[in-house]
Amino acid sequence: MKKKATPKKASPAKKSPPAKKSSSPKKSATPKKSSPVGISAPPPAVPPTANSAGTAPVPPTRKCGTMIVHNRLIEQHPNFRQALVNIERGVARRMALGLAARAGAPTTIPVVVHVVFKLPAENISDAQVKSQIAALNKDYSATNTDKSKTPAPWKGLVSSANIQFVLATKDPKGKATTGIIRTQTTKTSFSDDDGVKLASKGGAPAWPTDKYLNIWVCTLGGGLLGYAQFPGGPVATDGVVILNVAFGTTGTAKPPFNLGRSATHEVGHWLNLRHIWGDTEHCEGSDFVADTPKAQLPNFGKPVFPHVTCNNGPNGDMFVNYMDYVDDDTMVMFTTGQVTRMTATLEGPRSKLGK
Ligand SMILES: [Zn+2]
Repeated sequence: MKKKATPKKASPAKKSPPAKKSSSPKKSATPKKSSPVGISAPPPAVPPTANSAGTAPVPPTRKCGTMIVHNRLIEQHPNFRQALVNIERGVARRMALGLAARAGAPTTIPVVVHVVFKLPAENISDAQVKSQIAALNKDYSATNTDKSKTPAPWKGLVSSANIQFVLATKDPKGKATTGIIRTQTTKTSFSDDDGVKLASKGGAPAWPTDKYLNIWVCTLGGGLLGYAQFPGGPVATDGVVILNVAFGTTGTAKPPFNLGRSATHEVGHWLNLRHIWGDTEHCEGSDFVADTPKAQLPNFGKPVFPHVTCNNGPNGDMFVNYMDYVDDDTMVMFTTGQVTRMTATLEGPRSKLGK
């Protein structure tokens, strides 16, 4: 065994009370090593919050592994880079049409949720899975009531992606399914190395990624809430991975990540959205969306409007956007430009979904 479990005591700085007292508290575990490619960001200053449910600690702030994974895949799969160029051509064509979401009935995306667990508490309930699907449906139709928190200058940009997520009712062979697949593993924790997607590494293999949105729910190390793969990448690993205690709105989901927004954020990447600050530290990065202001860095926690960076005053960073790093109760919207990118994805590289 290369990994050694490290028991963590509850942090004095924890943000949330334990959900309930456990009669037999199990120790939580954190891998000593990060993934082979490492994590570029420094570890959080505040140690993760332990809880009594026998599940992973809740990271104090949002961290998403998507860009690290993306940069690794680009190196490993030379065709991915060209695929991205072609996808961006499709986005440009869609932008020229001047429409954001597709009109009419929503695009329905069948979802398979792979619950990969070692401890019973990691084997989250059907109700918790369904609470996540419900949260996705609100956020991707802009029917989330907390969109009222959007600062006035941006209220007109709040947009519905007109997407509906449904747990798959047919498996790849056409048999009836609940869309929830449970896989027991010997792994204490997974990293951003895609191991959770491979049976040979203790994970669960993807269902055909052109037909389903694959969501893996597991314990993740490295302080990650999740990671996703952009469209155009290798099919075997396509989908999103979410930390189990940041998944859904009930069960083991813990504040400040218990409104299902980690999945909203990662599915945004899966539909080709970039981080709102453009993944640089010098105001030069872009999220390839015109109606989101430039921002210097991610915002964490619960910022107060306005937070001005990159000469983006008076309104500042659009930290209420799902593609920033704020807490679940602070991110409430996609913009029209972001919806256009997602629509282009559904009409381009992900056009077989739901068909
Ligand atoms: Zn992200």
